[in-house]
Amino acid sequence: MPLDETETRSTPAPIQSLSVIVPAYNEQEVLPEFYRRLCEVFAGLDMKCEVIFVNDGSTDRTLEIISGLYRCDARVSLVDLSRNFGKEIALAAGLDHADGDAVIVIDADLQDPPELIPELVSHWRAGYDVVYAQRICRDGESIAKKTTAYLFYRLLQKVCRVRVPEDTGDFRLLSRRAVEAMRQLREQHRFMKGLFAWIGFPQKPVPYRRDPRFAGKSKWNYWNLWNFALEGITSFSCGPLKVATYIGLLTAFGAFGYGFYMMIRTLLFGNPVPGYPSLVVIILFLGGVQLLSIGIIGEYLARMFDESKHRPLYLLKNYLSAPGSMHPNMGARRGQTH
Ligand code: UDP
Ligand code: MG
Repeated sequence: MPLDETETRSTPAPIQSLSVIVPAYNEQEVLPEFYRRLCEVFAGLDMKCEVIFVNDGSTDRTLEIISGLYRCDARVSLVDLSRNFGKEIALAAGLDHADGDAVIVIDADLQDPPELIPELVSHWRAGYDVVYAQRICRDGESIAKKTTAYLFYRLLQKVCRVRVPEDTGDFRLLSRRAVEAMRQLREQHRFMKGLFAWIGFPQKPVPYRRDPRFAGKSKWNYWNLWNFALEGITSFSCGPLKVATYIGLLTAFGAFGYGFYMMIRTLLFGNPVPGYPSLVVIILFLGGVQLLSIGIIGEYLARMFDESKHRPLYLLKNYLSAPGSMHPNMGARRGQTH
């Protein structure tokens, strides 16, 4: 007999604990305010809470501020990466160190409001494994960024084999089993939104207003955004590899048709040797298509090259486990490298 949908969902554990993962790269301006708002949210939650700050090789006072918080608050852990690995890997490091029954992933810059956490938790308690925040607006972002984000999500929707929800960032809650699933995904090129979708399990969107950055500057620029889009598409679709095949086919058909036309024309009107410009255009066009196709293959090949080295995802400089952390074995992770 097929199982009712509710029966397949995970049952929340009786004593519930919550880990909040915060990747931070040069966030000295926002961390104190972020921490203050997070503590207010924690105060209203009937759960054992902890916050795991992942210092992603910051060059400002971020590490100092987190260490200060660690000393004053038994709920704070610090995962200090050996250099800047990028947000996606910082998140993976956080997930590796999060032992809560539910785990929240949130940006430090207050674009993701911590006040939404209780709502995410309530859906998790209703049995959802992944509760993701879905933007209804992007205040403070340029029209160009909004448009490119919009187009990117629509394109991704079309080419990907898994359904990546649109207008969704990394801000979300994961159940224990969703975290365990994420921990198994050790790929170097991490398109997190795609991975979150790939693991499956019952998922639930929660609409929210994405605030402008509280302070500091976004680490994103258009070059990053372009690479991010490439990452998304190449991680979850082999579609671009087929482009060369289809352009090749079309060109072959075109050449065949044009050859036929030339033959008839020569038979009817003789051969006055015209066509130098069209020859150049055709050669350039084919050269362009070939280079483009090699480039596409190269994108995939480079990713295979990176994966084949089997390097650890990140290295830790230091790990300070929260003194009040929920699981006694957490300290055993000290110095662990992944
Ligand atoms: N971040 C990180 N490593 C990086 C870049 C960013 O850990 O190399 C963190 C950053 O501190 C913030 C979050 O990722 O908490 C989102 O970064 P940002 O606000 O720059 O991105 P945006 O919101 O513009 O997409
Ligand atoms: Mg931001």
